[in-house]
Amino acid sequence: MSKYSFDEIVSHLKSSGFVYQGSEIYGGLSNSWDFGILGAALKKNIKDLWWKVFIETNPYNVGIDSAILMNTKTWEASGHLKGFADAMVDCKECKSRFRADKLIQDAIDLSVEGKTFEEMDAVINEHHIVCPDCGKFNWTNARAFNLMFKTYIGTLEDAKSTVYLRPETAQGIFVNFNNVARTSRKKIPFGIGQIGKSFRNEITPGNFIFRVREFEQMELEFFCKPGEDMKWYQYWIDTCFNFVKKLGIKEENLRIRPHDPEELAFYSNGTSDIEYAFPFTDWGEVWGIADRTDYDLKKHSEYSGKELSYLDPDTNEKYIPYCVEPSVGVERLFLMICCDAYEKENLENGEERVVMHIHPSIAPIKACVCPLSKKLSKEASELHAKLVNEFACEYDEAGSIGKRYRRNDAIGTPFCITYDFDSLEDNCVTIRDRDTMEQKRIKIDELSAYIKERIKF
Ligand code: ATP
Repeated sequence: MSKYSFDEIVSHLKSSGFVYQGSEIYGGLSNSWDFGILGAALKKNIKDLWWKVFIETNPYNVGIDSAILMNTKTWEASGHLKGFADAMVDCKECKSRFRADKLIQDAIDLSVEGKTFEEMDAVINEHHIVCPDCGKFNWTNARAFNLMFKTYIGTLEDAKSTVYLRPETAQGIFVNFNNVARTSRKKIPFGIGQIGKSFRNEITPGNFIFRVREFEQMELEFFCKPGEDMKWYQYWIDTCFNFVKKLGIKEENLRIRPHDPEELAFYSNGTSDIEYAFPFTDWGEVWGIADRTDYDLKKHSEYSGKELSYLDPDTNEKYIPYCVEPSVGVERLFLMICCDAYEKENLENGEERVVMHIHPSIAPIKACVCPLSKKLSKEASELHAKLVNEFACEYDEAGSIGKRYRRNDAIGTPFCITYDFDSLEDNCVTIRDRDTMEQKRIKIDELSAYIKERIKF
């Protein structure tokens, strides 16, 4: 776990422009966050990297971008209309509302995944769990609370015009299975991925951007032959875990947690979560990898009346493919990356520096050109203008060079380029490494290639 408090990390992210409070000038909106200048860049880089690794360069997968609003039958088929409900309890004294499983977990550190509402009530009573807000013990029974946001299409607000904001991107993939199979001409095994917004009316959002009501998911539905699903399940667990490790996340802060049989959905052959030791909890889910068998395609086939199966062109065998789903939230990855990257160091000269060791491939800014003196602005700006076409590059001439280094360390810029008076003569600059703070002289002509080589994933 990070040795820094969550408050310290969050405060750094807010003050340096990664995340702003949503609707701040109106007093905010509970648990809504806006991504600032650096946050928007980091988020985009995370999504671009996922797309590159999981879609563009992956031999099996293709990508789509489906609509947020879908025919309501989708949610009947997927079970979200009936079953996408958390157990919630209300405190009858102060009217606060809590998710029953979270209330129990926080109070007595017990997981109640897979337990019925009655069983959760029993645990609350047996352990005399009191309301965290008012300290009283006077609960309603656990009740279902549907997490889907409802809205209306057209001018009439009635049952017929009701639609839902999608609570996951996966269903947009399942309903397009035939379209993709036809237009991609992929053979099984193949995967369909997408990145997009999802919405859940979470009862207890919180821990900054860890649990929010509006978030982005990067989901892959990987279709394979029945019987080969467990092989691919393991393949995707390994692939996702390696992705996170390659991003430089410390291994001691990571674990893979296979779900116990009683936690598994009845149709699942296996589910594992990649978890991170966030500073606010022991372990928090970042990435879920689930073997969903043929459940989703079967359900959509049943509700739509359309056949969603696969005809093997080599064997003429027809079957409904099994599906393995690796699903991750962009905000969760973002938060994990930031918690892991944050460091406060005491330097030899007695100064303190905050440094974000964000993997260079996703760092919001890759390099910053710093003229040693304002007299060098013209030449340094010209260098910046050249580099900014190659990668995200900033220009900074304000304050001492030390201050500029500190500022860039704190936002995770991997390289600072100092243009000095010698540069005019020798056509070289000093390049400083964020992590090691080492500086070396390098030819301007070689600068772009030098940096590009080091910002690869
Ligand atoms: P949790 O148990 O934390 O609510 P979940 O098991 O419901 O998560 P899934 O439905 O499997 O999550 O969603 C896949 C991924 O989407 C999660 O691993 C997480 O990264 C992300 N995610 C889910 N809900 C939220 C949320 N409310 N805010 C941010 N990210 C979320």
